[in-house]
Amino acid sequence: MPSTTVTSDGILLIGGRLCLDFCNTVIPNPQPPYDSLEKDGFPALLRWCCDTNILEQTQATYFDHVHQTQPDKTQAIFQQAQCLRHTLTQLFTAVAQQRTIPSEVLDTLQRWLLDAHEQQQIVLEGKKAQRIWRDSQHPALMLHHIVLSAENLLFSDDIRHVKQCPGCGWLFFDGSKNHRRMWCNMRACGNRAKNRRFHQRRKHLASA
Ligand SMILES: [Zn+2]
Repeated sequence: MPSTTVTSDGILLIGGRLCLDFCNTVIPNPQPPYDSLEKDGFPALLRWCCDTNILEQTQATYFDHVHQTQPDKTQAIFQQAQCLRHTLTQLFTAVAQQRTIPSEVLDTLQRWLLDAHEQQQIVLEGKKAQRIWRDSQHPALMLHHIVLSAENLLFSDDIRHVKQCPGCGWLFFDGSKNHRRMWCNMRACGNRAKNRRFHQRRKHLASA
């Protein structure tokens, strides 16, 4: 059973990859989808980024200051975050459902990747090459982290084990030994489905 972490806002982190957890800040089912970040906007995004260790506390303090002084700027970042999340959700949902990834989704991802890589610089530490961010206060820094997580997953063998929970619609990486994990979380969706089947069977027996 994979371990479950919960953010300070009560958002479950069950995706197993940063990019999937980001997609899961929207709960697709039941319809209409519920956006866990939308009500509070940028501050909620900022808290999620701290809880998932994308940002260090000093960076979070800086971005919080930007939010207090230039709310239009952080509102724009939040809207970009929602667009990125939509693209990644389309991407990994297609993967999980073994459908062809729409070309416009790949085109959008490509643009995000170009932006993210442009912000990185290769430096040598001893004989080891490292990638560092050119600007640790870049307004879209948090989104670049998520984009690179999506790139890593897309180009790795792990992509074969990206799944979608048949209950809530969340995406997750199935890292279990036999790759037979079905639910996002057995205690939540798995048990709900089991209970539903139990009640349907009982109703069926009662009416027989
Ligand atoms: Zn679920």
